[in-house]
Amino acid sequence: MQTILTLNNLTKRFGALTAVDNLTFTIQKGNVYGILGPNGSGKSTTLGMVLNVVNKSGGDYQWFDGTMDTHEALKKVGAIIERPNFYPYMTAKQNLNLVCKIKGVTNEKIEEKLDVVGLLDRKDSKFKTFSLGMKQRLAIASALLNDPEILILDEPTNGLDPQGIHQIREIIKNIAANGTTILLASHLLDEVEKVCSHVVIIRKGKMLYAGRVDEMNASHGFFELKCNDLALL
Ligand code: ADP
Ligand code: MG
Repeated sequence: MQTILTLNNLTKRFGALTAVDNLTFTIQKGNVYGILGPNGSGKSTTLGMVLNVVNKSGGDYQWFDGTMDTHEALKKVGAIIERPNFYPYMTAKQNLNLVCKIKGVTNEKIEEKLDVVGLLDRKDSKFKTFSLGMKQRLAIASALLNDPEILILDEPTNGLDPQGIHQIREIIKNIAANGTTILLASHLLDEVEKVCSHVVIIRKGKMLYAGRVDEMNASHGFFELKCNDLALL
């Protein structure tokens, strides 16, 4: 199996608060991973560290086989860690064209990626006419423009209506089925169960479980978690 990302006692402190506390796990190619934990448990901070936008306080992470520096490695990563932000008066296609220029990737795959997220028929619509779900789907298309090895999503369905949530989850599953590794952060157990094959459960920055989703309830006593997505413990 090919390793995409390894965390080794990765730690982040904000003053007296240890937001991420010695996280250790490995992401293997082809799987769909969830980082599951209630709000404030350290999910976004963890993603921020491996994406090199948050400085780590301790431990380490390694992309791929460790032979590339982080800057090079991140060219093979697609990530959405903020609300989708595009130019409102430009079309979907024009916005992605701009992303290609900024990222220095070819614009030949724009329509292919719009198709992946079900927006090909809206390629000439202005971004400002898009629903929140469509904006999020455009962000996913944007993150796929470089044909990443792994797609990282932070709370990809937050704020969406049930139909929008369903669409995003189906798109993530399709992307995974085509061989792209996925890492998503979520506070929803139900989201992880529906989308992910593997999960890392964290609370207050500490890892409670890392393993297969279909083994977490039976073997680790997390069954009661089903009762309440938000109050994980
Ligand atoms: P999650 O994404 O799981 O909701 P976060 O990673 O955003 O959690 O935050 C983890 C903890 O770190 C929270 O207690 C949060 O308030 C704190 N935190 C996050 N970013 C900062 C920051 N820049 N400065 C101080 N505390 C922060
Ligand atoms: Mg977060």
